[in-house]
Amino acid sequence: MEYCNAVEREVDKVLSKFSAIKEHADRVMRDITNNTEALKNEFDSGPADHELTPTQILILKQTVNKIRDTVQKLATDHRDLHSTVSKVGKAIDRNFASDFASTSREDVFSSPEKAQLLNQIICQHFYRQGMLDIADELAQEAGLKIEDGDKEPFTELNRILDCLKQRDLGPALQWAQAHRDSLAAQNSSLEFKLHRLQFIDLIQHGPSAQDDAIHYARTHFHQFVSQHEKEIQTLMGMFLFLPHGISTSPYSYLLDPNLWVEISEVFTRDACSLLGLSVDSPLSVCINAGCAALPALLNIKQVMQQRQVSIWNGKDELPIEIDLGDENRYHSVFACPILRQQSTEANPPMRLLCGHVISRDALNKLSNVNKLKCPYCPVEQSPSDARLIYF
Ligand SMILES: [Zn+2]
Repeated sequence: MEYCNAVEREVDKVLSKFSAIKEHADRVMRDITNNTEALKNEFDSGPADHELTPTQILILKQTVNKIRDTVQKLATDHRDLHSTVSKVGKAIDRNFASDFASTSREDVFSSPEKAQLLNQIICQHFYRQGMLDIADELAQEAGLKIEDGDKEPFTELNRILDCLKQRDLGPALQWAQAHRDSLAAQNSSLEFKLHRLQFIDLIQHGPSAQDDAIHYARTHFHQFVSQHEKEIQTLMGMFLFLPHGISTSPYSYLLDPNLWVEISEVFTRDACSLLGLSVDSPLSVCINAGCAALPALLNIKQVMQQRQVSIWNGKDELPIEIDLGDENRYHSVFACPILRQQSTEANPPMRLLCGHVISRDALNKLSNVNKLKCPYCPVEQSPSDARLIYF
């Protein structure tokens, strides 16, 4: 849609420029025609053998010059219009770049095992999104072996998330209580947030719900006092405004429906991290990363074609660095300060005896018959003392 809008903006520019030029040209031509006709009438009205006076010659010359200038100016305007029109074509080319094949490698999925892996990833994605029937169908048609353990966690998570969407906190609370220790170990405030929402849900029913709300607070909040004292105090403040309605009180922000959106996110994040799953499906992460990187890759491909150079040789390495933002950074990377290359499995970072880190290729290049002088501090050491490190 964004692309369509970008092209449409260029088309609008052409249209407005075109109508402005047309209007201007019509007016100027009309003026010139009128002037010329008036002049012609004036000359025609004179006697047949009349010779032009110097003033008439001057006027005639001026008129001819004016006509020439105007025609030239109209031609220039027309040329300008052409460049605006060609911008539309460029906008279409830029926004609807089509040759994606040049940026991908089809052989990646060509072997049957890899195709099977791809099916498996797609299938897992469907389980994750709670589309169990589609996932089952795909598993069956693609002949995938799905263990119960593969879909079990997602089935449960999705059931709980569905209940949260319908503002039913029960299953989520049960789950949080069952995993209380592990959640506490990862510093999660999920259980408190669930109780808080349940409490807010109760208290917003007005004065009639006061006893229930007090009872709920007494039963559940004491265990969270050490961690969430301030928030509990705030919740207790809501009682003051119960008679006049909380929606008009300073606590009205606690009735924000966004808290329900937030609780689903907190639940997904904490539950996934507890189960050792990534929050986003790996498939959607890959596709999003690919979509974000595609324009840059298409650009570099075009530049390479224009200049007839190829800098895209490394099969597992992109020719340029593409920043996908913080949320897509999963682990630290190490770039060798000597070779100025990112480390790979084949060329991992090595820690020298003195504590400096360089890549293994650099280490091998700098070693001289079992001796190595650190390029940063000139400590002499044996290359075999260097240790592989993991990021
Ligand atoms: Zn050193």
